[in-house]
Amino acid sequence: EFSSRELSETLLARIARLDGELNSFITVTPDAALAAADRADAARARGEAGPLSGLPLALKDIFCTQGVRTSCGSRMLDSFVAPYDATVVEKLAAAGSVSLGKTNMDEFAMGSSNENSYYGPVKNPWDLSAVPGGSSGGSAAAVAAGLVPAALGTDTGGSIRQPAAFCGITGLKPTYGRVSRYGMVAYASSLDQGGPLARTAEDCALLLGAIAGHDLRDSTSVARGVPDYTAELGESLSGLKIGLPREYFGDGLDPAVEAAIREAIGVYESLGATVREVSLPHTALAIPTYYVIAPAEASSNLSRYDGVRFGHRCDNPRDLIDLYQRSRAEGFGDEVKRRILIGTHTLSEGFFDAYYKKAQQVRRLIRQDFLDAFEDVDVLMGPASPTPAFDRGANKDPLSMYLQDIYTIAVNLAGIPGISVPAGFVGQRPAGGRPAGGRPAGGRPAEGRPV
Ligand code: GLN
Repeated sequence: EFSSRELSETLLARIARLDGELNSFITVTPDAALAAADRADAARARGEAGPLSGLPLALKDIFCTQGVRTSCGSRMLDSFVAPYDATVVEKLAAAGSVSLGKTNMDEFAMGSSNENSYYGPVKNPWDLSAVPGGSSGGSAAAVAAGLVPAALGTDTGGSIRQPAAFCGITGLKPTYGRVSRYGMVAYASSLDQGGPLARTAEDCALLLGAIAGHDLRDSTSVARGVPDYTAELGESLSGLKIGLPREYFGDGLDPAVEAAIREAIGVYESLGATVREVSLPHTALAIPTYYVIAPAEASSNLSRYDGVRFGHRCDNPRDLIDLYQRSRAEGFGDEVKRRILIGTHTLSEGFFDAYYKKAQQVRRLIRQDFLDAFEDVDVLMGPASPTPAFDRGANKDPLSMYLQDIYTIAVNLAGIPGISVPAGFVGQRPAGGRPAGGRPAGGRPAEGRPV
């Protein structure tokens, strides 16, 4: 057994050695981390250890942290230091955990590859030419590379589950309302939900237990007790009814990914679960629906970055309009601007009924698909993403990037939980089994990629 200080020092040294290349952190906070580690060690010596006492972890740079920059991956917030902690940050600290820093992400959580960060792309530790997924790519890469045992991310349309899949780890998006959004920079408020990325389902269960719960500061947080999410982890799968959505195994799914997923599902069957096909008939509408609703909410949420109250301000503004225009033109990257333009358009008079209102109606149908399916089965299983991690620069066209989200975003639109667990490997697994900052334990880079 070793102390939290020893563990934290070891991981901070590992970050210093490997993260120049991986770029999974935007800010590392060694002094605050070691102070928290010492507090955790002292609490343990007094017999007062919290549930996560001394556990080092990392926070996606979308969670406000008092005294530590919260950039949200954007030039707009490059110098923003929040005056308070997000509820989840408060809860994790109260549970005794030790934050080592803030992880890289797509700007304002918009993206599926982490190529949209003002702080540069994150590399996938299994293969440095591949993306780690997004938008919580920094959190996923940091966990996969062994820089932290767990990290927090956010999932508005797959941003926890897809990077977890690309990096071969476990990522959990809780039910909407389960985890407080207070202090989490808003992207699309009716979809955003924070959650854990870690090695195992058990670790995710422990972290969810620490961050979940009602919060008076978030009116959408659900007023229900927090169960022990680890309680049923060891139970038999016998009798579990698994549904495979027909629409998730059709055109566009990489056959190698499908083979890995089907093999993994076979393992559940061998453990006593039964499998049947189900249908989610509105699946094809999930991407168009999401890409109306999310940009609409984003355009509204991002209107607060006006160069006046906080965030980037241009030099020498001529007048107020010039201040707004240049501050926003300089502060936001291309993808964020694209979403603001789409959202502003779909919310404008004359277009609202055709786009936003229609999307809200289709959203109900998508939710109903899931409710109908859950009449027959306990859980649904399928791929998190149509392909394994792709190479940086391979998906230049925004539409092809949006298609990445086909298997994840319906879950957000329905408000239900989703988890991505490692299912296997496409291609050859590295000799040592796990990657280490681009150098798998076996020495050579992986010739395959996790799914
Ligand atoms: N790819 C999605 C998007 O760009 C991911 C969003 C998210 O979950 N934060 O909107």
